[in-house]
Amino acid sequence: MIASVFVTNNPFPGGVVVINFEDANSNPKAYYNSAQLYVQKLKKNQWQAIVGIPLLTNPGDKEIRIDGSSTKILIFKVKSHTYGEQHIIFSGEKRKYITQDITQTERIDREREILKKARKLFSDTELSDGFFVLPIYSTVTSAFGLRRLYNGVESIPHTGIDFAGKIGDPVKSTATGKVILVGDYFYNGNSIFIDHGQGLISSYMHLSEITVKYGQKIEQGDVIGAIGQSGRATGPHLHWSVFMNGTVINPALLLEKK
Ligand code: ZN
Repeated sequence: MIASVFVTNNPFPGGVVVINFEDANSNPKAYYNSAQLYVQKLKKNQWQAIVGIPLLTNPGDKEIRIDGSSTKILIFKVKSHTYGEQHIIFSGEKRKYITQDITQTERIDREREILKKARKLFSDTELSDGFFVLPIYSTVTSAFGLRRLYNGVESIPHTGIDFAGKIGDPVKSTATGKVILVGDYFYNGNSIFIDHGQGLISSYMHLSEITVKYGQKIEQGDVIGAIGQSGRATGPHLHWSVFMNGTVINPALLLEKK
């Protein structure tokens, strides 16, 4: 039995493209825009590369490079998709999250680098297999990919799925893996990043509590923290993001279709 993650092919910005290829090498590598891709073995000489497509990608022909028994280029298509939009109002003390607070820029810049490093981490192992599970069973309050306007001004699109909840509700790990970052960040609040191997990473934000430590091994479904409203949140909720090859993708594509 070969461990494998299951994803739904979804050739749109914010989606994933699944590309099967043949190669006689025992450990072929694949790259998209120089970022290393998740590659899994299907059977002898048969492999599968999974490409996370950044949300702000222009539709059209794209290519991945395979470094195996030879170097080859494979072409695939990204189609266009229109996401809905969402208006969010920050008032009172929370306005600091949309107006440039110069006392916070140093912190924001520093944290941007830390978060980018976690998002782009590539560990050369497969830590999880099968489908992901939901981090919490509750109402989705904000879908992935929505164009977002904060107090009327367009910001970056929504990079995850938001779930409703009360402060203290348990949050679970979506898959087996290892904790690669925990901390309190200006925008994301209390956050956990879990590595599932080969650039597949999940994160959980705005938590009130974190009950895991850096470096800890986690099983799928383990409680890792609790819902909160830390960071840029207008109320208690969980923001759940998933990354592949350093880019944010729709986490729903890793769930089993019911
Ligand atoms: Zn969110």
